[in-house]
This record gives sequence, C-alpha cells and structure tokens, in this order.
Amino acid sequence: MTLKDGGAPQPQPMSALFSAPGAFENDDHLASLLQSLPGCAYRCPLPDPQGSLLVNEHVSDGIYALTGYSAEDFWFGRSAWKNLVHPEDLAAVQREVSAAVTARRSFSLTYRVSHQTGRDVWVLDRGHAVYDEKGLPIWLEGFVSDITDQKETEAALRDSEEQLRAMLDAQPECVMVVSAGGRIVKVNPAGVAMLGCMSAAEIVGRNVLTFIDPDHQDAVRDLHVQCLDGAAHDKPYEVDIMEMGGKGRCAEVRLAPLKSSDGKVWAVLSVARDITDRKRAEEKMEWLATHDPLTTLPNRAFFQQRLQLATSGSGKRKAGLLIIDLDNFKQVNDTLGHDAGDALLCETARRIRECGRSGWTVARLGGDEFAVIVPNVESREGFAATVETFLQRLREPVSFGGKVLDSRASIGATLFPDDDRAPSDLLKNADLALYAAKAAGRGRAMHYLPAMRSEMQRRVMAIRQFKAALDEDRVIAYYQPKIVLADGALLGFEALLRWRGEDGQIQRPGSAASAFEDAELAAAISDRMIGKVLDDIRSWLDRGLPFGHVAVNVSALEFRQADFAARLLDTLSNRSIDPSHFQIEVTETVFLGHGGEGVEQALRTLSKAGVRIALDDFGTGYASLSHLKRFPVDILKIDQTFIHDLAQEGEDASIVRAVIMLGHNLGMKVVAEGVEDLRQAAYLQAQGCDIGQGYLFGTPIAGTEISADGFWDRMERDRKRWPNILSALSSPAVVELPRRAKAKPA
Ligand code: C2E
Ligand code: CA
Ligand code: CA
Repeated sequence: MTLKDGGAPQPQPMSALFSAPGAFENDDHLASLLQSLPGCAYRCPLPDPQGSLLVNEHVSDGIYALTGYSAEDFWFGRSAWKNLVHPEDLAAVQREVSAAVTARRSFSLTYRVSHQTGRDVWVLDRGHAVYDEKGLPIWLEGFVSDITDQKETEAALRDSEEQLRAMLDAQPECVMVVSAGGRIVKVNPAGVAMLGCMSAAEIVGRNVLTFIDPDHQDAVRDLHVQCLDGAAHDKPYEVDIMEMGGKGRCAEVRLAPLKSSDGKVWAVLSVARDITDRKRAEEKMEWLATHDPLTTLPNRAFFQQRLQLATSGSGKRKAGLLIIDLDNFKQVNDTLGHDAGDALLCETARRIRECGRSGWTVARLGGDEFAVIVPNVESREGFAATVETFLQRLREPVSFGGKVLDSRASIGATLFPDDDRAPSDLLKNADLALYAAKAAGRGRAMHYLPAMRSEMQRRVMAIRQFKAALDEDRVIAYYQPKIVLADGALLGFEALLRWRGEDGQIQRPGSAASAFEDAELAAAISDRMIGKVLDDIRSWLDRGLPFGHVAVNVSALEFRQADFAARLLDTLSNRSIDPSHFQIEVTETVFLGHGGEGVEQALRTLSKAGVRIALDDFGTGYASLSHLKRFPVDILKIDQTFIHDLAQEGEDASIVRAVIMLGHNLGMKVVAEGVEDLRQAAYLQAQGCDIGQGYLFGTPIAGTEISADGFWDRMERDRKRWPNILSALSSPAVVELPRRAKAKPA
C-alpha cells in the first residue's frame, strides 16, 4: 500500500474520502459495503511529494482488524503504512508499485506487514493509479486484505509436500506415477536406480512399457487399465523389468489408482520392489533341488517327474528307459583319487548328453548311475540300436592327468508300455536288466526280461536264507586236505564255508554268492566261519591230531575292516593257537582299489606274527607282479581252471610251469588246486609244484570227520601208497601226456 504524507489533498478519513466529490459520488451504499469488507480500502494522492510511496494513509476502518491500528492513527500520522511493511519486503513493494503506476497498469502484491501485537500479517495488496485528463497519476487506490491464513495453509502444504517427497526419496522401492496414457510422470531415486538410469529426466515422459519385458507387457497393460477403472491391486504381481542397459531384473509391483478431488482416476501409482536377488536365490535353490551340481544334469527327483510324464500317455507312443552304471568307478575313485572320479563322472555325463537328442531326459540318479528317457520309440529294434550307441560312446577311453581311465559302463534297458506301465516298475526292470548286464560280465547292455525278476527273487531269497542260517547257527566249516606232492604227506587243510539249508541239505558258497556282496553279511559270515575253524583247531590240538594248518578264505571286503588283523591275532591268542597253524587265502582283489596301504599293513602284521598268506586263484585276476614283491605272500595257489586242462598239452600247461617257476623264484610255495586225477598230480609233481589240493586227495569234509580215527588211517594209507603211484605214473607211457613239458622243460 502506498501513499503520501503531507501536501494536498490533506489526509482525511476514508469515510469522508468516499463522500468527497469526484470520488464515489455520494454512494453511501458502496461506502458501507467497503467498510464491511474484510480488509482495508485505501486511496492516496499522487504524485508522492516525498518521492516515496507508502507514506500517508486514507484508509477504511478495516485497517484496524488488519494492523491493530485505527484509521485515526493513520490519519493523524501516529502510524504509517510504510513503517509497518516488513523491512525485507519494503523495497520490492515500492519498486513494483512505481513500475505499475508508470506502466499504467494495476498491481497485485503479497507481502508482510507488522501487526501492532508484533506478529507478521500476510497481505494481498491490489491497486492501481487514477490519472487526470493529461494522463498524470493523481490517485493511488486499492484494497489490502489479510491472507495470512491462506499463506499458512500454503506453507503447510509445501511442508507436507516436502515431507512426502523426502519419504519417496528415502523409499527403497521404485515409486512411479504413471499417467492414464501410460507415460511416467514421476519417479523416485530408487526407481531411477532400478531402471538403470542416471536421472529421473531419462525416465519421465517415457511409456512405462518400454521398461517391461515384452513377455509381460500385455499383462501390465491389462493391470493398468483395471487400475484406471478404479481397481486397486493389493496382491503384488511379478514382472520382469528391462533396465536401460537391457539387463533384466525382476520386480514385485503393486498398483493403486490416484484420484482427483472429483473422484476421477487421473493416474496410477506404481510401487515396485526389486526381487531380483530373491528370485535368483529361489531359482538357484530350485535348480539345486532338481539338479546335480557336479555334472549339471537333472537329478533323481527331476528324473522321476519326467518318467511320470513320459509314461502318463495311452501307451501308443513307446518310451524307453535306460539305466547306465559305470563298471569300475569305485576303482578309479579309490586308486586315482576323487578328482579322477569327478572327471570321469563329468565326461560320462557329457557323452550321455551328447548321445541324446532334444526332448530326451538325461539324469544322474546318484553315484555312478545315470538314466535316460527316450521318448517316441518306434520299435524295439530301434531302441536296441539307440542303447548300443550309448554303450559304444561310453567305451571310448577317457584320459585324465595323463592316465587312461576305465570308463566302460553297463546298461539296463526297458520299454514302456511293452515291459511295464508304472514308472516304479520300469525303474525296477531297468535295474534288474542292469544287474544282469553286470553279472554277465559288465561292459554290456541288457534289455529287461521277465525271467530277471524271478532271478532277483531267488537272490533275495538266498540272502534271507543265509541270514537265517547265521541266526540259527547252521554255518559249518568243511575242510579239504592239502598234500605234499613229493611224498603224499598231509600238509594241512583249506577251510571251506558250508551251511545246512532249511531242507537239511549242505549248501556251498556259490548258492549265496550275493550274500557275500553285502558287506555287513560278509563280515558276519567271516567272523562266524573263523570262530568255527578256531574251535575245530583248538579241539584237534587238544587231541594231538597232526592236522598241520588250516587256511581260511578271506574276501577283500572283510580284509578292509580296519581292525581285521588285530582281531584275528587276538582270537588266536585267546584260544592259545599258535599262528603257524593258521593261514589266510586272499585273492588278488584285496591288493586292488581303495585302502591298499591298510591291506599291506594288515598283511604285514599277520605275516610278522607267523600267519602265512596264500594268494588264491592266481592267474585269473588283475594282480601285477609288483604286488607279489610288495605284499608278504608265502604261497601261490594256481587257479583250478589251469589244472583242469593240463592233460591236454597247451597254453595252460605253459602257464602252470611259468607260475611254478615264478613262485619258486620269489621264494614261495606253489599249490595246485582242483587236482582231480593222477595224471594231473604226476605232471605237477614232475614240474616241481609243491602242494596239491583237489578231489583226488580228498573232497571237503566236516570237521567232525577229521576228528574220527578213520580219517587218519586213510590218510596214512594213501601216504604210504603215494611213492608207488608216482613211480608208476612216471613210466614213459604216462608221462608222455604233457608232451611239450618234455620237449621244452621249463
Ligand atoms: P576257492 O577258495 O578257490 O575254493 C576252492 C573251491 O574248489 C571250493 O569250492 C572247493 O570245494 C572246490 N574244489 C576243491 N577241489 C576241487 C576239485 O578237485 N575239482 C573241483 N571242480 N572243485 C574243487 P567251494 O567250497 O564251493 O568254494 C567256492 C569259493 O567260495 C571258494 O573258492 C572261495 O573263494 C569261497 N569261499 C569258500 N569258503 C569261504 C569262506 O569261508 N570265506 C570266504 N570269504 N570265501 C569262501
Ligand atoms: Ca581258497
Ligand atoms: Ca582257489
């Protein structure tokens, strides 16, 4: 507000002013209306003689409510508007008013004045100048109203907006306002970061769909439309987001309609939470739950789902199932270490995968066992050819660390629906076929046959029966004599396992071979057998019988028990049996595979204590000659297959001669097993073989028979006849038989 001090016209109350001629022309109604308005009308003469506006006042009564000063205070100069204007606002107000007067336009200013009580009052001052005929300004008139409330409301609004903005900025979630047309109107900093941008400016104005994965765009569009129709989505939905750089992130989004005061939806508020990390972790968990991390193949659980699927059809389309098992994985793992084992598994997985075609399922079921589902099999023959492809591929050598690994595998195969329909039955079939392939010598594939099921049942039965025999103490030790070939003397016995079946028949180990494959059962059998043998030895010693020694067969499985040697020696000493009466027979498999050092240690312990060690079935296994040097072997037992065909001069005879020589050169005694006739015995004796064992000298018999006097009488009789037999056999007509032996003496 503006006005002037001193000079004409003299200041007068506004009421008078309004009634002055040339002002409002006696318009009392208008004057009273002005008085009752909240605010203050003013008028002051121009130009301002002091060069300053806002000087003296001609004001209406509303001034009191506005400032706490009365119209009279102004009239008499006790108050001046200029003095009430806030010092910070004064210069601007004066400048604006002058400019408006000069430019002949009205003005509208807001500024602060000081109320008599000391508080600031915000005013809106709207006015204009009045000009005379010459165009010179003569009056300044206007109206000042109190707008403090409005200002405070504005300030409060600004504050709350500021708070809102700060809250949004601090939000870790992407918050966006999206217009009805799909354009992004606002985005918070978290949103900027989530969309891979540097600033909101890169985002605002773009269509929101440009940030959504194409696969999800339709869904997002639909949700937007629903939201614009007023539907709020409190259930979040997941969507793949495309960042500016193109890298996908995953977000959980909620939408809410933004309504204007008239209730119309004008935009959509979108709040998106970045769940990429959670998603990735979930995916990883999911992957781990269904895959094998080593080979990255699907695992058994995944495989079973697929098998279910493959066999859920009508059966018009055949599906093949293969179970593939490595033949020598354990050996590779045990002898060359886990790295080699892992490499073999990975390479096998790769090959199986390569042999498969798209749509086939290849999985690792566990250990060294893999499986393949072949869908849409045309014919049994075609399937057999497929199986053969796998077999061939797996036969190719695998090298690792400069060594060639034995990568051969056996395969069991079965066909849906021909062989069975239920997944569990198909798996059983393939397992049975695999077992049969292994039993038939490994490295081959077998297709399931119903007979395999009965064979397996027989095997299960055998194990059960064997367990029962153990439980009911039907295990018996049989003994077969070993004879010194030079003079026919009894040297000792080999103990052979027997048990009485439920039908009372005496059973041999071959009828329960599978029982020996069960480590626990094998250990129990061995313990029981050794116990029986030691009981018999003890009783023979007590009776002074000249039995020599007893050799007990110990399998590789038993031998690997850490405390085997110590326990055996303990048992011997508990029964006061000198170790020289005891021998063990091991096959070459104990030297192979895992725990070679342990085996060596155990053998040494026994050997040192005086237990002699025989290497059984020599010539049939894989032992290298270095094993003979490294392990404390005292006796070589030539496998009976070589003895069997001795009479027909051929390779076997050469092998037998070579083994005898080898054994002797290494300081060992050599035993020939399975000697069934005199000619074999004579030949062996002639070649210098030390000991003979076989039906010729005696079949295996129960310990009780050995305790009987008759046995010893017969032994003595046979021994006395032996030199005569030998000399009769050495007559040229008989010795002729193994001719090559004569022509080329070993
Ligand atoms: P092995 O150690 O080679 O035992 C010799 C096998 O040849 C025995 O078969 C014996 O009865 C048989 N035999 C003996 N003389 C002749 C012969 O002149 N001609 C023929 N054709 N066979 C003869 P058996 O008793 O059936 O034992 C078979 C295999 O079972 C044994 O072969 C041995 O490996 C294993 N075994 C036997 N007893 C035990 C045992 O107590 N523990 C363990 N771990 N294995 C055992
Ligand atoms: Ca043996
Ligand atoms: Ca043998």
